[in-house]
Amino acid sequence: MLSIFFRMFVVSGLSLMALPSIAQHSHGKGLLQLSLNGDLLQGQWTMPMEALLGFEQLPKNPKQTEAMNDLQKSLQNASYFIELPAEAKCQQIEVKADSDMFQGIKGKAHSDLQYAFKFKCANPQALTKFGFPFFKSHIKSHQLKVEWVSQGAQKSATVRSSKPTFAL
Ligand SMILES: [Zn+2]
Repeated sequence: MLSIFFRMFVVSGLSLMALPSIAQHSHGKGLLQLSLNGDLLQGQWTMPMEALLGFEQLPKNPKQTEAMNDLQKSLQNASYFIELPAEAKCQQIEVKADSDMFQGIKGKAHSDLQYAFKFKCANPQALTKFGFPFFKSHIKSHQLKVEWVSQGAQKSATVRSSKPTFAL
């Protein structure tokens, strides 16, 4: 119940801030909303495509097409993005990578990746630390703001590429 209320709060909060939508799109910086409900770990990651690919318009040459396809393929496995403690025994159950670019929509000056993932964890109390291996492969990514919620407890921190770890 709490999580539903929190989610409504987040959604309405976002829509209030959404007016200048470009303001949320800051090159090199992303946002991760992470929540744990029982044994279910859910995440929603938003990142400028510029930070991931170095471009955020539709690919203009075969090299860019390949880079975009590689990213899409890599994201099928959420461990490309986030590293969970092995003791938590988590299994990916869902992942969704969305972007105007993946859909071949052009015309906007900026594009974002919208990435959603779900894990089921046999030992969720071991979820005390999260790593972000994607920084290594995407050097234009500098920061990730992590917002964590579990059973009413919240924590947020900015993770930097030089120390890509979020600890509870
Ligand atoms: Zn941009």
